[in-house]
Amino acid sequence: MTRHYNFCAGPAALPTMVLERAGNELVDYQGRGLSVMEMSHRSDEFISIAEQAEADFRQLLGVPDNYKVLFLQGGASMQFAMLPMNLLGQGGSANFIQTGIWGKKALSEAQRLGFDCHVSGSSEANGHSAVPAHETLDISRDAAYLHYTSNETIGGLEFDYTPQVQRTDGSDVPLVCDMSSNILSGPINVNDFGVIYAGAQKNIGPAGLTLVMVRDDLLGRAQPGIPSLFDYQLLADAGSMVNTPPTYAWYLAGLVFQWLKDDIGGLDAMNALNQRKADKLYAAIDGSDFYSNPIAQHNRSRMNVPFVLADATLDKAFLQEADAAGLLNLKGHRSVGGMRASLYNAVPEQAVDALIAFMADFEQRRG
Ligand SMILES: *Cc1c(COP(=O)(O)O)cnc(C)c1O
Repeated sequence: MTRHYNFCAGPAALPTMVLERAGNELVDYQGRGLSVMEMSHRSDEFISIAEQAEADFRQLLGVPDNYKVLFLQGGASMQFAMLPMNLLGQGGSANFIQTGIWGKKALSEAQRLGFDCHVSGSSEANGHSAVPAHETLDISRDAAYLHYTSNETIGGLEFDYTPQVQRTDGSDVPLVCDMSSNILSGPINVNDFGVIYAGAQKNIGPAGLTLVMVRDDLLGRAQPGIPSLFDYQLLADAGSMVNTPPTYAWYLAGLVFQWLKDDIGGLDAMNALNQRKADKLYAAIDGSDFYSNPIAQHNRSRMNVPFVLADATLDKAFLQEADAAGLLNLKGHRSVGGMRASLYNAVPEQAVDALIAFMADFEQRRG
C-alpha cells in the first residue's frame, strides 16, 4: 500500500493513523460485532463515542462551559444561512469583513434571505492580498454580530489579529468566525467569539460534518418560524440529535481529536509544526524567481499556500510531473489559477519537504 502526499484544499488529507484505526474497527467496532456506521445514534455505544469526541474537542481548544458544541450537517455553507436566521431574530444588522470568496458567499447568502447587511471592511481594493487594518473597520452601531473568515482557503489569506469591536455601551459586538480551514491549526481564545463554525473536511474529519460553537447568551434569538433543524437552541437542547446526526463522520472526527491530543501533543505542538511547514514553503517560494505568492507577509495563510509559476504555460507540466511524483492535488482554485498547496494538520512535514525538493528540481530543469 502506498499513500501519496495529498495537498488537496478539501476534502483534505486525514492522518494515516486515523484511517488505519478506522479500518481496523470498520467491520467490528471493539468486539461489539457491528460497525459504527450501523449503530443507532441513540445507542449507549454511539453516545459514548459522541461524548468522548466532544470532550476531546473541548479540551483541545479550551472551549468554556458556556458554549455549546453542535455536530451538524449541511457544511459551512449552511451556516451562512443559519447564522442570520439565529442571530438576527431580535433585529440589528449583520456586519461582514470581506477578505475573499468564502466571506463573500456568507454575505450574499444573508442578503439573499433579506437580512440587513453591512460591509465593515474589505480587501477587495488590494485584490485580497492583505487583510484590512483593525482600525479601519467600520462596524455599525446596531450590529447584532460581526462575521469574518479567519482563513480564506482559496486566496490563501489569513487574519493575523482577532477583530474586537465595542458597542457604545462598552459590550463587545459578538464575533462570528468561519474557521473552516484553520480551526485546530493552533490554539485560540474561544472567549473572544460568539460563534465559531467550521466544515469538517479540512482540519477535522471527513465531509458531511460541521462543527458550530455557540455562546449560551446567543441562543434563543432565532427568527420565529425557521425550520427546527436550523434552530441552534433546538439543536443544542437535543444534543445535536433533533434528527439522525452524521454518526460516522462524528466518530472519525473523534479519532482525529485523539490523534491531535495523543500523537501530536495538543494544539501548541500542532501550531509549531504548522508554522515550520509554512515557513519552509514560503521561504522556498521567496527564494526563487520562478515561483511567487502575492499575499502580504503578515497575512500569508499557514494552511493554504497559493503560488504561480513565472511561465504559466508550464502549469500543466508542473501538475502532471508532481502527480507522477506522488504529490497530489496541487492545482489552484479555478478562480485563481496557478497552484495551491494546502498544508493542513494531517499533511506531514515530509510532504512539504518532498514538495520543496520537487519544485527546486522542476525549476532547474524547466525554469
Ligand atoms: C471549504 C470552506 C467553506 C465551504 O464549506 P462547505 O462545507 O462546502 O459548505 C466555507 N468557508 C471556508 C473558509 C471554507 O474553507
